[in-house]
Amino acid sequence: MANMKDAHTPLGCLAFEADIIDGKAFAAGLMARVKTEVDEIRSTGDKVPGLAVVLVGEDPASTVYVASKRRETQAAGMNSFEHRLPATTSQDDLLTLVGQLNADPTVHGILVQLPLPSHLDADAVIEAIDPAKDVDGFHIANAGKLAVGQTALVPCTPLGCIMLLKDRLDDLTGLHAVVVGRSNIVGKPMAQLLLQEDCTVTVAHRYSRDLPTLTRMADIVVVAVGRPEMVRGDWIKPGATVIDVGINRVIQDGKSRLVGDVAFAEMGHARAITPVPGGVGPMTIGCLLSNTLEAFRRAQARDAAAVKENL
Ligand code: NAD
Repeated sequence: MANMKDAHTPLGCLAFEADIIDGKAFAAGLMARVKTEVDEIRSTGDKVPGLAVVLVGEDPASTVYVASKRRETQAAGMNSFEHRLPATTSQDDLLTLVGQLNADPTVHGILVQLPLPSHLDADAVIEAIDPAKDVDGFHIANAGKLAVGQTALVPCTPLGCIMLLKDRLDDLTGLHAVVVGRSNIVGKPMAQLLLQEDCTVTVAHRYSRDLPTLTRMADIVVVAVGRPEMVRGDWIKPGATVIDVGINRVIQDGKSRLVGDVAFAEMGHARAITPVPGGVGPMTIGCLLSNTLEAFRRAQARDAAAVKENL
């Protein structure tokens, strides 16, 4: 955990007292634990977890994400299956591939990289994935289970955020958490996870009135909006913990750089904050591997139960 005590802040050059939450180091630890478990599985059985990633088209950002998922999957000792389809792929052909992956016993996790080309119906594709292999946690069955508190595969980004929060704050009981953003992949599951930790949860979105007043009430602020540095220092009460999910590319002083949805330099009075990059981002892929391992373990348990039933 770095502590930028001497950093300059635009708010009157106050010392920057907030701890910086090192998501990169936390994710490295998570991935090392996954690898250790996979190594054990490999040494004791004939199966290892397998993750299939489907990329349709050649969106440059998606291509980079998919390559890094393949690298990390292999580094964890899992099988990586990559399916690259042309941008002209039909809905039927994509659904056929998903069906094949659902039926393939060597595939324990399926991830269809989003966004899909505009002629494809992403919702229908996600709903076609076997919920037991839905390591992105986007299937309606997993979203529903999360909402009612049943065991589910949980979307990777909010899962990473809750891991960082629990590591930092230990017990979240009774804390007031404000989640800014209500997308199905970040904001809504984040709110559900915070509720499961017995937080009092407020979900804000583009139509919320007087957002700064809402966020100033919070002990925990999670921001997933996609607007560069929208959340300012005076929106955050002293001692609050801030999780910045946003990833925005901006041009500053003629240079391209990544910034979050939170004005990082103004957060010196927070208790702790995730930086961008190096905060939430690395956790997402760590949680993808952890979800794939979890899906594998559940598949093994189901197979063992089926064998027992047939004895
Ligand atoms: P989204 O576009 O699906 O949702 C954005 C949400 O922000 C919406 O619910 C909208 O109501 C809300 N919003 C928009 N403008 C607002 C405003 N002015 N005030 C309050 N709320 C407002 O986005 P998303 O997929 O949830 O992603 C959000 C951000 O998180 C993006 O920057 C994205 O790149 C980033 N992201 C990062 C990771 C990661 O791994 N770190 C993963 C997913 C998304």
